[in-house]
Amino acid sequence: MSQPYPKPRIPWWVFLTISIVAALFIFGGNSTIKQGVVKEISTTELYKTIENGSVKTILIDPQTLKVSGELKDGSKFHTTVSDVGDLEKHAIKHGVEVKTESVGGFSWWNIVPYILFIGLFLWLFVGVGSQGKSMKNQVGGFLNSRSRFVAEKHNITFADVAGCDEAKEEVAEIIDFLKRPQVYLEKGAKIPRGILLAGLPGTGKTLMARALSGEAGVAMIECSASEFIEMFVGVGSARVRDLFAKAREAVPCVIFIDELDAIGKSRGYATVSHDEREQTLNELLVQMDGFKENEGIVVIGATNRADVLDDALIRPGRFDRKVFLNLPDVKGREAILKVHIRKRKVPMAEGVDLVELAKLTPFLSGADLENIVNEAAVQSVRGNHKKVTTQDFKEAIDRFLYGPQKKSRVVIENERQIAAYHEAGHAVVGRYMEGADPIQKITIIPRGEAAGVTFFLPEHERSILPKKYLLARLAILMGGRVGEMLKFNDESSGAFSDFYHATNIAKSMVCGWGMSEKIGKISINEHSNQTKEISAEIKKLTDEAYEKANEIVKQHIPEWEAIAQSLLEKETLNKEEVEKIFKTTI
Ligand code: ADP
Ligand code: MG
Ligand code: ZN
Repeated sequence: MSQPYPKPRIPWWVFLTISIVAALFIFGGNSTIKQGVVKEISTTELYKTIENGSVKTILIDPQTLKVSGELKDGSKFHTTVSDVGDLEKHAIKHGVEVKTESVGGFSWWNIVPYILFIGLFLWLFVGVGSQGKSMKNQVGGFLNSRSRFVAEKHNITFADVAGCDEAKEEVAEIIDFLKRPQVYLEKGAKIPRGILLAGLPGTGKTLMARALSGEAGVAMIECSASEFIEMFVGVGSARVRDLFAKAREAVPCVIFIDELDAIGKSRGYATVSHDEREQTLNELLVQMDGFKENEGIVVIGATNRADVLDDALIRPGRFDRKVFLNLPDVKGREAILKVHIRKRKVPMAEGVDLVELAKLTPFLSGADLENIVNEAAVQSVRGNHKKVTTQDFKEAIDRFLYGPQKKSRVVIENERQIAAYHEAGHAVVGRYMEGADPIQKITIIPRGEAAGVTFFLPEHERSILPKKYLLARLAILMGGRVGEMLKFNDESSGAFSDFYHATNIAKSMVCGWGMSEKIGKISINEHSNQTKEISAEIKKLTDEAYEKANEIVKQHIPEWEAIAQSLLEKETLNKEEVEKIFKTTI
């Protein structure tokens, strides 16, 4: 059985009626059903009523000492006595008709409710209640129809996903494969079986998956990995099998597993060692290995904790392609606002400037922006405006930003400033350091743990790293902190990963690549007894790099300022935009 607790597919009223009737039988006892309203009386009262001659009949059960009876006026009573023999004598003496009967004995009437309950139980759990075919088929069919997974087609397309151009490009190939697998099959091409959508909540992972299936015109089975984690070991893996069985029926199709980290957390990150989680994860891996590249099933996993996923999950043939969905920049936010205004057919007042609104909403996700469009519409209704005005939007944004758990605008602006001057520092050093890769893109939109990123594009994949290049890398990495210091004369945690990478590079230079005069042309273990000398050499490299970076930024203050200001305005600068700033700023 794949489901220990299949939900009954019988009308609720059948269930209710049967239960009530059965309960009445069991708890009401015979008297209630057969005799209607019955008065409970005391033994004293019983003796008195017998004496005054108003009792017609009594029924005594010598086993339970229970007595029931009928008065001459037709009303009924019952009681319990301690001495049935005495009561019998007393009653006979006063001319009452006495019957003695053991009600506790066997009677079909008594077991009917139990039969009903057992029947009901069987119906619910084994499926005897379903019609037709042999018993085995009935049971199988019952469980199958119980599959919690549905393959559904979406009419959501890329038009509904604003921005995210890089992510769209990355999934385009998969869409093409799902559309015309034959072409790929004929050429013997392999297609990724699994892709991982990584991004903060509300960045459009679910939306992107739906758009992918919509664009490809194939069905999608949506589920969340947290559904697989149940109390009982084995339930999760059975569900995973059920999921893939369902997918095979719906080929070609997309399986979307949300919150993949719920089962895919690597051991070190799992809060408890959890047999069930482990088994479920293994089953997922087995299932993913079990279908061929070209079977027509693509599995999409989504997570906002790509960093904690088990390595086994991201191995080739599994979720080996990672697609990041980032928070949108100004342009992206403008586009998202536009999409939702269009989709909801929001009547916009003249002169509402979406660019301005996008600038007021830094660091907000697609979901946040959708929320704001909705809230603006609500504000418009409250204010009795004919159309939705800029003011409505601003109020909606304020409500959102100042709402619970949201950072204040001051904090956000402060972080943007730090990120901008930090990234501008990297950029300027990168531009003027000999031997460095060209700048590809700069952004102050947070990615993962970084507050911003400056991307450098290697002209070619490097397998040999010249010392000049390494020194340039070190200086560039230091450029971020240099920027912060020059502008704010303060240090922030934003340079965390810069120092991490710089230290690693310097360590390799000293210990592995023979680039330190003091240590010499040897390969040396960093835990050797020369630890002190090694750290001194590493520090020397990073210190010199910092000095170099400081010198460069100071020589190019106008460019550095211009880049930072442009970042604050546009949040993302591409290669051409960066180049233009360097060329036009003196
Ligand atoms: P996630 O799965 O990453 O948490 P969702 O896909 O559920 O995010 O996004 C929630 C909602 O936010 C979507 O239904 C959509 O309306 C809106 N949204 C998010 N990103 C975008 C985007 N790039 N374009 C348009 N709408 C978006
Ligand atoms: Mg989602
Ligand atoms: Zn940095």
